[in-house]
Amino acid sequence: MADLCSLTLKEAIEAAKKDGPGPLIDAFAKRAQAVNPKLNAFLRFDPSKIENGKGAPLYGVPISIKDNICIDGREVTCASKILEKHVPPYNATVIEKLKTAGATLFSQCNMDEFAFGSSCETSAFGPCKNPWDLMRVPGGSSGGSAASVAADMTVAALGSDTGGSIRQPAALCGVVGVKPTYGRVSRYGLIAFGSSFDQIGPFAKTVEDAAILMNIISGHDPKDSTSSPEKMPDLTQALKRDVKGLKIGLPKEYFIEGIDPEVEKSVRAAAEIYKKLGAEIKQVSLPHTEHSVAVYYIVAVAEASSNLGRFDGVEYGLRVPTKDLREMYFETRDRGFGREAKRRILLGTFVLSAGYYEAYYLKGQKVRTLIRQDFEKAFKEVDVILSPTSPTPAFKIGEKAADPIAMYLSDIFTIPANLAGIPAMSVPCGFTSGGLPIGLQLMARPFDEATMLRAAYSFEQETGIYKKKPKLD
Ligand code: GLN
Repeated sequence: MADLCSLTLKEAIEAAKKDGPGPLIDAFAKRAQAVNPKLNAFLRFDPSKIENGKGAPLYGVPISIKDNICIDGREVTCASKILEKHVPPYNATVIEKLKTAGATLFSQCNMDEFAFGSSCETSAFGPCKNPWDLMRVPGGSSGGSAASVAADMTVAALGSDTGGSIRQPAALCGVVGVKPTYGRVSRYGLIAFGSSFDQIGPFAKTVEDAAILMNIISGHDPKDSTSSPEKMPDLTQALKRDVKGLKIGLPKEYFIEGIDPEVEKSVRAAAEIYKKLGAEIKQVSLPHTEHSVAVYYIVAVAEASSNLGRFDGVEYGLRVPTKDLREMYFETRDRGFGREAKRRILLGTFVLSAGYYEAYYLKGQKVRTLIRQDFEKAFKEVDVILSPTSPTPAFKIGEKAADPIAMYLSDIFTIPANLAGIPAMSVPCGFTSGGLPIGLQLMARPFDEATMLRAAYSFEQETGIYKKKPKLD
């Protein structure tokens, strides 16, 4: 019998249909027990709660959830001390949808604290490691979701992406990760970081698996006022090995100094493969790209500082008892938040404060519009834009931890899609000479996940790169 843990979602669905979910869940529980001590990808796992979903599309299949998505009755921490022991009394909409589809909510995944980071090192519960090299980071902030899928500890996972937190770890761990169009997936029950950026999306072993999950989690939700009524086609039906005539753009501003030469080579080779498959490759320009990181670290931290105001020791998680209320707020927030969270709360409060609001926040929003307009122009000429997902492969644990700017720059290629609200994804496109995965980013027009996934699927099926697995045993 094939190893159950290495099955794709599509295969696992068939296996659970045939033999029931028991053998599948047992195999993953064993695997997680053996591998998690090495990786720290799961903060908690509970294989006992198999849904009664016989006949439902994901019946029994174990799916893992980033620890910032609320599950009724289970602790959810955002990998922060301030939320330790916080048990939400309701399900996020994506959780309701997974439960209705019969999935087993298998585990809750490690992440950067409040999704602030690109390495999973800011977790209050210890860093997660990259299954391809335990000395390296899995990327972040959804590092646990990416590492657990890559290490066959789960069939697939959900993460969230505010500035790259699905795509960058997917690239660094060699799996598929999709950030849907802003508004495609309900944010209800996702603990907010940057409300005008955040999107939940899938991590999977194949593009087809990601499409299956996208079909399940997407759709309008009256509980999220930013959720879109736009209809989504069945994405699994969109997966054809056909890119003939598709216009693909390579943005000249994305092939810059500082990008790892092996990453650049691999992405350029991917463009050649598309050409061979019949796509038309064109250079495009996204002239405001260089301002993306600066704008993001103004607007997103402003939203974060406002969203994190509610964690004050009164309603959620940690409370440090002191003699008066004011002191209780101070002590709780001081002990509850880690360094990166404090840095962002301070920065965000500053850029929103009287006298600085116009100079920073408002100006940031205006540049954000210019970045969105860059994409609108480019998508008049091309259907899909290709780029590296991350300028480098997985870096060493500790390498960038003391230098926030170096860490922030690792999101340079992923942040623009969040600023513009467009769909974007990462698909494995090769390996470095040292054996580390490289990710190819695809971006598409708003709500055109179908074209993006078709292009990713054609590449994946042509190259078969996704079949290679890390050796952990
Ligand atoms: N790494 C980026 C940040 O630290 C993006 C994080 C995310 O998408 N949640 O803000």
